[in-house]
Amino acid sequence: MKQVRLGRTGLRVGQLGFGGIPIQRISRARAIRLIRTALDAGVTLLDTARGYSDSEEKIGLAIRGRRGLAVIATKSPELDAAGMAKAIELSLKTLRTDHIDLYQIHCLSSWEAFQKAISAGGALKALTRAQREGKVRFIGVTSHSIDVLKKIITKAPRVFDTIQIPFNFVGDESGISLWPTARKAGIGFLGMKPMCGGVLDRPDLALRYVLQFEGIVPIPGMETLRELRENIRLAREARPPDKAEERELLRIRRRMGKWFCRKCNYCQPCPQGIAIHLALGAGTLLKRFNRSCVSGWCRDIMRKATTCTKCGLCETRCPYKLPIRSLLVENIALFRKGLRGMGIAWDQA
Ligand code: SF4
Ligand code: SF4
Repeated sequence: MKQVRLGRTGLRVGQLGFGGIPIQRISRARAIRLIRTALDAGVTLLDTARGYSDSEEKIGLAIRGRRGLAVIATKSPELDAAGMAKAIELSLKTLRTDHIDLYQIHCLSSWEAFQKAISAGGALKALTRAQREGKVRFIGVTSHSIDVLKKIITKAPRVFDTIQIPFNFVGDESGISLWPTARKAGIGFLGMKPMCGGVLDRPDLALRYVLQFEGIVPIPGMETLRELRENIRLAREARPPDKAEERELLRIRRRMGKWFCRKCNYCQPCPQGIAIHLALGAGTLLKRFNRSCVSGWCRDIMRKATTCTKCGLCETRCPYKLPIRSLLVENIALFRKGLRGMGIAWDQA
């Protein structure tokens, strides 16, 4: 598989990375087999997070005896130094390693949050201390906001060694516009949601599209050996979409563009406190998270969405003109159906 240099980190990783969300849904034994097969095939960047329940733990078990093959990236949303220091220690313990290659601030949503992270008592303090102690090699950031990342890499290009943002053919305006600036600043680029969060019927085309961008490491979530082998095949083939595939991508983009939420959060704040970007992804919540998450925080998000008063404020702010009110209704129905299929009650306390 083609090797990619992760910007100024100098880390060289297989062009295809491994997203650690879906392994929450499978057994330890299956996850270990999957990750080891990935590593042996050259999928060396393993991305996980403190927030992905047992994903770090499964990766930690899988890399025993293979630590040298893996480039481990994990993350925490903590913005203060004490919280981040604790998160780093927990990650080291859970991942059973003495160092983490890339530690990212997870889901930085605003310039204010960035200011907090770089302030005297901010998360960056703990990250740089961990770096000096050899516990963390490089520091990155993840976000769903193009504006926030653009501002950070323009005004403070030396703070983060890598960025991670959704990068796919439907919402590609974000990643594509950011990529040249990031590249020029020597910042490594991890492509989140290369297959649009698992909601496509042609994930192969979606991945082929993203793989054509030189220097970007897409990190699709995978939970079966079949998915892994198919993605490895595409990465090894390393060819851009042909004419027929381009036409198909265009067709899907036109259809999906009408309702595809880019998770940019421009529609916020919602007076009801609804997490619109999450509630519009009921299919993803059901598909990517384990039973305990689905019956816990995912269900809370979808139940909260039922309090929508249909005021329409969010729709006036959405740059993609999504019909958020009707999409919420559709997503709630989809989620409820999914819960029934899993034998989980909607109303249960
Ligand atoms: S329409 Fe619903 S989701 Fe949108 S801002 Fe109003 S209450 Fe919130
Ligand atoms: S609904 Fe629109 S504004 Fe809100 S997160 Fe999705 S794409 Fe962005």
